[in-house]
Amino acid sequence: MGDFDALLDGSLPRAMGVADVFRLRHVELRPGASAAVGEWVSARVGGPVLVVADVRTRAAAGAPVLDSLARAGVDAVLHIVPDSHNGESPSADSDAVERVQAALRGAAAKGAVAVGSGTVTDLTKMAATRELVPWVSVPTAPSMNGYTSAIAAILVRGVKRTLPAHQASAVFADLDVLSRAPAQLVQAGFADLSSKPFSNACWILSSVFASEPYRADAAKLLDGPFRRLLAAAEGVGARSAAAMEQLANTVLLSGCSMALAGTSSPASGGEHLVSHYWDMVEHAAHRPVRALHGLQVGVATVLSARLYEKVLAFDWSKASLDDLSAQQPADGRALEALVRSRHPALPTDIVDELVVQSLGKFAPPPVVRARLAAIAEQWSSLQSRLSQSVLGAEEMVRALRAVGAPTQASDLGVDLPTLRHTVLVCRDIRQRYTILDFANDLGILAPFCASL
Ligand SMILES: [Zn+2]
Repeated sequence: MGDFDALLDGSLPRAMGVADVFRLRHVELRPGASAAVGEWVSARVGGPVLVVADVRTRAAAGAPVLDSLARAGVDAVLHIVPDSHNGESPSADSDAVERVQAALRGAAAKGAVAVGSGTVTDLTKMAATRELVPWVSVPTAPSMNGYTSAIAAILVRGVKRTLPAHQASAVFADLDVLSRAPAQLVQAGFADLSSKPFSNACWILSSVFASEPYRADAAKLLDGPFRRLLAAAEGVGARSAAAMEQLANTVLLSGCSMALAGTSSPASGGEHLVSHYWDMVEHAAHRPVRALHGLQVGVATVLSARLYEKVLAFDWSKASLDDLSAQQPADGRALEALVRSRHPALPTDIVDELVVQSLGKFAPPPVVRARLAAIAEQWSSLQSRLSQSVLGAEEMVRALRAVGAPTQASDLGVDLPTLRHTVLVCRDIRQRYTILDFANDLGILAPFCASL
């Protein structure tokens, strides 16, 4: 548990000036951890509490949690999040958040316990945040990093929003439960984390090009665990106990690094925009998303790795900064027209938002030229920082294959024209500067997409 020491004793959050938002006080990562929930809740939260689950996660870990609360004398009210109308797993939308809030008020709950993975966790986290009660996480799959993050992904009127939310006060990650998680969820957790070296490199780019603060401490928190996880890929595929512990450990630290940084940048760069764009297009067409977030991110990470290889090999001696900057939209109006023309699958109100996001990082050609000239001057230093962060595409493919995760867009049912279009335009959805913007400034994004 050494990785969590400096976090839980508060020294790292204090050093980084985020002690008040960093709410996590207790992490138990071991076989049988779910049976320890009651004692902790009794001592730190009291009762009654609302236990939130869906039918699957209730079956996975509901019994040990409810038993332990009962043994500790804590009254518990169970709230089952219903499946969607079409019988699919529930989605984390704003109506579902309000139903959990109503259940919290109805039970006069002093806190909430989320027994689940992505959806149940995000719903509980958001509802507890709004009702100003603490919440405790009992993860049922090592599939995403929201157990320890301070944001929740909620669908608001059809658009996925990342909203600020309170961190869990405690996490009881029961390795007996996590080891039984469905294979896809395990693969998704690993694949989502595989983006880490590339998100970090995008964070470096954003700090250089858009002055976003880069927090080396938050970035460093994940370095060692990530390397150990990558080395354990085969073990994750075979579900060895040690590898599953490493996966769960890295998942929890990944959420903490976002909470410390105060942004999703440590775990979400250009590769995430590819996955988000696929989701937005599917939502707009009233189709279910193509695959779990993490599985999509894994495929996008391989693409990002290939794009970083191109960018890191960029030959500045052959580049004309005048030509490169002249390829950019002349002004905000030209950019707006461009953005409005290239998202035919998205509804107008969403494209309006993309215009806002794109304008937020727009630089007119003279500024792009000056920026590129400055980068050319210090290229070797930026190149070496980026190289130290990223890994090769083939290494990522090997690791994803070892856990059984998809590595190609075609594995997700994405055809080639859709893939090329997504990689070319998905940078419009977020103001954050990423490798996609840098490659575009260097004039290599369009040829890269054409070469896919
Ligand atoms: Zn992710």
